[in-house]
Amino acid sequence: MKQTDWPFFEPHHRDLEERLAAWASEQLHADHGNDVDQTCKHLVHQLGQAGWLHHAVAQQGRGIDTRAICLIRETLAFHNGLADFAFAMQGLGSGAISLDGTPEQQQRYLPRVAAGEAIAAFALSEPQAGSDVAAMQCSARLDGEHYVLDGEKTWISNGGIADFYVLFARTGEAPGARGITAFIVDADTPGLQVAERIEVIAPHPLARLRFDNCRVPIGQRLGEPGQGFKLAMRTLDVFRCSVAAAALGFGRRALHEGLQRAQSRAMFGGLLADFQLTQAKLAQMALTLDSAALLTYRAAWQRDQGRPVTKEAAMAKLAATEGAQQVIDAALQLHGGLGVVSGQMVERLYREIRSLRIYEGASEVQQLIIGRELLKGN
Ligand SMILES: Cc1cc2nc3c(=O)[nH]c(=O)nc-3n(C[C@H](O)[C@H](O)[C@H](O)COP(=O)(O)OP(=O)(O)OC[C@H]3O[C@@H](n4cnc5c(N)ncnc54)[C@H](O)[C@@H]3O)c2cc1C
Repeated sequence: MKQTDWPFFEPHHRDLEERLAAWASEQLHADHGNDVDQTCKHLVHQLGQAGWLHHAVAQQGRGIDTRAICLIRETLAFHNGLADFAFAMQGLGSGAISLDGTPEQQQRYLPRVAAGEAIAAFALSEPQAGSDVAAMQCSARLDGEHYVLDGEKTWISNGGIADFYVLFARTGEAPGARGITAFIVDADTPGLQVAERIEVIAPHPLARLRFDNCRVPIGQRLGEPGQGFKLAMRTLDVFRCSVAAAALGFGRRALHEGLQRAQSRAMFGGLLADFQLTQAKLAQMALTLDSAALLTYRAAWQRDQGRPVTKEAAMAKLAATEGAQQVIDAALQLHGGLGVVSGQMVERLYREIRSLRIYEGASEVQQLIIGRELLKGN
């Protein structure tokens, strides 16, 4: 039975997954050049032209279809990690506009995001405020018809190539999480500069941003003053399920590679796949992935029903990212020395999966969310 035959899906999801899988096999190659900025820009354009980015944004009264986003991320991650990244960031970077933008803001940004003509970014984390987001210090002070931004954001994916940033800053209506507001900041706004480009183990555009007396028109405020933290959490609720789906895509690719290697590697007068130890490893990989997939698509389906999904999304992200890490490690082990050779698919997956256990809430944060929800009776 195909995954899209599960009762969480509707016929259009099956159709979407089949069309995308065919397109990705033909158009996407895991091997991209060293210029990660150019590759990402190209991928955003390519995904926009082919119509896939329309699923990353809410448009024309149509809400976000979480199951579609998850299927797309799983499929793209299977084929090419950077393509998944490009798709995900268009969604995450514009998600708060989809959820809470005025009609004018939505009209100004979302069609360009969906067409791959504007690159989006989500600027929440700061050097001193990662897991503890509410400790953020970047400030926005009202001055006539403008807000004046001062401070820093770091670990910002698409930092340096984005056309705009959805940014969260302290406006001080109340202490902590209740004094934060969201803004849309165009990348060419004076006072915004890319202070540092950050290189990571699975290369993608990433930067630390600096805001010095950066004046943003009042019309660029997103949602109500003081409601930014809630908006950030609502955005993350959608995309947390999709991080789980991306992990599934990486994990499924690793299982695919592991199966191929086990069935082709000759040893001890037979094949690696002949040994029960190998079969047990493959069985555990498949079990881990299918368990994570059930949690992921339960969360996505539940969100599409309009039901609260905080606990379920956290469970999905925790199970899928931690599980995929184990599956990829097992696939690499099946490859022996070949597995650690730079550029091998399992070696790439090994680097690619690591940060998913950290961003959009580290695994420990997901555990806390689940525990807290259980104690609330949810
Ligand atoms: C590749 C990458 C891309 C990213 N992209 C973006 C982006 O586009 N936009 C954005 O805003 N941010 C982004 N981030 C930032 C990311 O969300 C943060 O790194 C993450 O929230 C963790 O924050 P931190 O790095 O400051 O770690 P810290 O907050 O210092 O946490 C360190 C570790 O402490 C542990 N921990 C945390 N809380 C607890 C707890 N309560 N109890 C016990 N242990 C705990 C966890 O293991 C965690 O990994 C990105 C990060 C990475 C690595």
